[in-house]
Amino acid sequence: MNGPIVIVSKYHRLGEGFSKKEIAKSFEHPGRRTNPHGYQSPASWISDLVALKKLIILCSICRQHFNPRKNGYRRAYIPDSSGKTSGFEVNGKCAGCKQETADVGGGTGFTPEETYNLLYVDPVQARRDARATWKAQSVWSVIQRARQSKGERK
Ligand SMILES: [Zn+2]
Repeated sequence: MNGPIVIVSKYHRLGEGFSKKEIAKSFEHPGRRTNPHGYQSPASWISDLVALKKLIILCSICRQHFNPRKNGYRRAYIPDSSGKTSGFEVNGKCAGCKQETADVGGGTGFTPEETYNLLYVDPVQARRDARATWKAQSVWSVIQRARQSKGERK
């Protein structure tokens, strides 16, 4: 297992330096403002979301600038009964770059610890299930299953 890729952010670190004024502003607007009269940096916008304990969806690029543990967040796990995704993929509009995360390598949802604990009674089990789902999805297991079914037919 490799550790997370460390990339130095060109902005200041996400989740730091939010002000009450910025939090108040975020109530007025459904999303981060990027017009010339009301620009809000991705970092301060994400800080607001952290302060408001909202679900944060980040694309594959922006999530490298966000430290969930430091902000009291953890990766959201939403079980996918269809088995198409691991359950860790959450797509939507990226809180950092405002692009659709599906177009930027797939999105990851981050949820506050408190919410997570309310939603998921046993995160260890959830992790175990996620691993099992991931295994079931892997190409190797597909090959193995194909071989096994061939063997059964003989
Ligand atoms: Zn992004």
